[in-house]
Amino acid sequence: DLLCVDQSGAIVSANIAAQSMLDSHVDQLRSRNISAFLPDIGAIGGPGELAAMNGRILERTIHLGDDRSIPVEISTTVAEHDEGRHFTLILRDLRERKKQEAALLHQATHDSLTGLLNRLALFEEVDRLAKNPDTRAMAVLSLNLSRFKAVNDTLGHAAGDAMLCYAAWRLSAVMEGHGALARMDGDGFAILARCDGNREHLLQLVHSLGESLRRPFDFEGIPIGVGLTVGIACFPKDGTDAVTLIKNAGIAVQRAKTFSEDFSFYDPDADQHSVRRLALLGELQAAIDSDSLELHYQPKVALRTGKVDNVEALLRWSHPVHGSVSPAEMIPLIEPTEMLRPLTDWTIRRALEQNCAWAKQGLHVGIAVNLSARLLQDFAFPDRLAALLAAHDVMPCMLELEITESAMLMDVGRALHVGRRIRDLGVSLSIDDYGTGFSSLSYLRDLSVSALKLDRTFVDDLENSPGNRFIVESTLKLAHALNLVAVAEGVSTQWQTDYLRNLGYDFGQGYFFSRPLDAAACLQWIMARNGQKGDVRAHEIASGSESAMRSGSALTR
Ligand code: C2E
Ligand code: CA
Ligand code: CA
Repeated sequence: DLLCVDQSGAIVSANIAAQSMLDSHVDQLRSRNISAFLPDIGAIGGPGELAAMNGRILERTIHLGDDRSIPVEISTTVAEHDEGRHFTLILRDLRERKKQEAALLHQATHDSLTGLLNRLALFEEVDRLAKNPDTRAMAVLSLNLSRFKAVNDTLGHAAGDAMLCYAAWRLSAVMEGHGALARMDGDGFAILARCDGNREHLLQLVHSLGESLRRPFDFEGIPIGVGLTVGIACFPKDGTDAVTLIKNAGIAVQRAKTFSEDFSFYDPDADQHSVRRLALLGELQAAIDSDSLELHYQPKVALRTGKVDNVEALLRWSHPVHGSVSPAEMIPLIEPTEMLRPLTDWTIRRALEQNCAWAKQGLHVGIAVNLSARLLQDFAFPDRLAALLAAHDVMPCMLELEITESAMLMDVGRALHVGRRIRDLGVSLSIDDYGTGFSSLSYLRDLSVSALKLDRTFVDDLENSPGNRFIVESTLKLAHALNLVAVAEGVSTQWQTDYLRNLGYDFGQGYFFSRPLDAAACLQWIMARNGQKGDVRAHEIASGSESAMRSGSALTR
């Protein structure tokens, strides 16, 4: 597209292509000045300085009136004529290239599966707003979908993808006009909410987001409930740049998950908690020494027989000032510290002692201890475990270690190595809170775990949630296909018990049967229950240690 102008900028001639681009016949063009189409040419000094454009290639926008505009690349050459200087402008239409650039930019800033903004774009967007002096308030929300992993594992990737798209679609409808929604990774989403920083308004938003996912999503006829956990960080209080805000929203969502809450505001005092943490850590050693730590025991009931041959040990700490400190609070505090080892050793020792004590009183039950995922990274742990077993007169098969799926998020090779050494000792491993984490089936097999313990959030609403029923059912199939014992925790009603038993779950545990009890109460409870349901246990104990050993380990199939 060629345009020829004189040194005042008046158009002298235009070829056909230029005429069509400018949407005017050359006769109409002749009466006009180039600056009518390229007002921003003034930016480089006006037509008088067209000469300055000589030999350069510039990107400009041609304005055609009625808001139409065309991005162009202009290269200018100058020619001396008898009538003075003329400039030849070669215009290249950049619309196609801009379209491609926009597509590339879209690709670089959007998630290909859901079409939402991606992590990078969200960081930029948050930073852009944070740097804008007009921004008085905004909030960054970190969103976590529950059930995603379970759906992915049991129904396949297509279902997982469909679930993410469903969530993306529902959530973005809520955010329409209120901010930006981005997919950060896996099942993690984040939101930049333009808001006034008012807590009530944010809560309203969180509520709407949760509501939007309330109706189960349908995958090939299977209704699947999707839960949502939200962490909130507010600008400028909780951070003034994207990295800090997004990080703090992430901390808040973890906190919400730890305490099984739907949402949590970032709380710098939770780091202040670190003051409490320091104090607690200091006191913990003393607590171990002074026996103010205690284990309570929650029976696992064999659903077919109604009997108990295994209990789970749960840590209890009654603190002189704070009262009872929940393990759900305490363990995450201790986990990253060097106190974890002595605490774990104490717990296992105590559980083994109890096992011996009960045996003397005629109660032979296996005992399960929760093991922090981090210990599967500890090469020295199997040796300490062996020493603890040797120091007590307990058969290794009576001990079971429950580990959460997150164990596999760390160094997998290492976890497998430590896991295998634990198995070699004869101690069994089981996966706790199954369905909330990221374990892949191959890990379960490589670790040779003996039981899958379905997380209690799936059991909770079994009566009303076909989606949960579906997951409960497919997890059972999975467990049995892998030759694992299937355990359901959090059983709290008769209906749930019947349902789980009829499905084929091997064990149930929960308030419906019994809350965690102290050792004496637990002994009584089990004796009463096992007695009342017939005397198989007594018979087995009488028939010799071998069968007692076999039945003592509930989790050996
Ligand atoms: P978990 O291993 O999933 O343990 C089950 C938790 O659910 C226990 O809470 C138990 O009291 C509670 N629970 C049992 N039945 C029901 C029910 O029917 N409904 C409901 N809503 N809850 C029920 P607890 O004792 O507060 O323990 C919380 C978590 O702390 C445990 O979750 C476990 O992850 C951790 N934990 C407890 N003791 C230890 C320990 O000695 N070592 C380690 N590493 N973690 C521990
Ligand atoms: Ca457990
Ligand atoms: Ca659990």
